[in-house]
Amino acid sequence: MRKQGFLLLMLVLAASFKLLANEPTAVWQGKASAVSLTYDDALGSHLDTVAPQLQHYGFLATFYVVINSAHFYQRLEDWRKLAVAGHELGNHTLFHPCNGKLPGREWVRAEHDLSTWSVARYQQELQVANTTLAALDGRTQRTFAFPCGDLKAGETSFLPLLPQYFIGARGVESGVNLPKQTDPYMLKLFDATNLQIAQIGPLLDSAKGSYAIFMFHGVGGDHPLNTELEVHQALLAELARRQDSIWVAPVVEVLASMAKAH
Ligand SMILES: [Zn+2]
Repeated sequence: MRKQGFLLLMLVLAASFKLLANEPTAVWQGKASAVSLTYDDALGSHLDTVAPQLQHYGFLATFYVVINSAHFYQRLEDWRKLAVAGHELGNHTLFHPCNGKLPGREWVRAEHDLSTWSVARYQQELQVANTTLAALDGRTQRTFAFPCGDLKAGETSFLPLLPQYFIGARGVESGVNLPKQTDPYMLKLFDATNLQIAQIGPLLDSAKGSYAIFMFHGVGGDHPLNTELEVHQALLAELARRQDSIWVAPVVEVLASMAKAH
């Protein structure tokens, strides 16, 4: 009888251990869900507005920088300080190449038109941007975000290149990410362009138990894809209010934690 009781106890323990292992809480630093805040294209507002707001709440984020952005190469020391503070400098390429043949892409310069590029050229782009970022922050692990959401150079997908340079990539589709169902090289996202304060609560509610990535461009009006300053502030305040249940961290950290848990 005692032996049976012991066996039963072991079974219950094993079952609950398995349950716990499947809980997202183990993956996300003991919290029910994870959020990454990501900022694209190395804009002035990221340094002057976003970074101080993040610091106020103690949040770390991912900045997908373009090396050829004037706000990047003219303010290297400011970006280095962000990295030292713990933010991720993610790779968003050197020149932000995009397919200029698609509708609405008249702004793409001929020399940055991905429809005329080879995969080998794209690979150099990834490599040199990574080298530049490593020189700045000394880190060997980072993530990638696809300029314009484009996945091909010419007619060929460059997705097979990514694992040798990155532990993951923010993808192009809308939605949340679930442990074990998530392709780390095609992470889903919420586009925060034109986000409204009234949407913040329901959006975070819908992301419970999952990993949500917010994508920002301009904050406060310095890019055609814009999020108002007070909306950004309200999102941070709401995340702070929910910090017992939401882990806010750079993409590279959340992915590393998810990989470790598998
Ligand atoms: Zn971009």
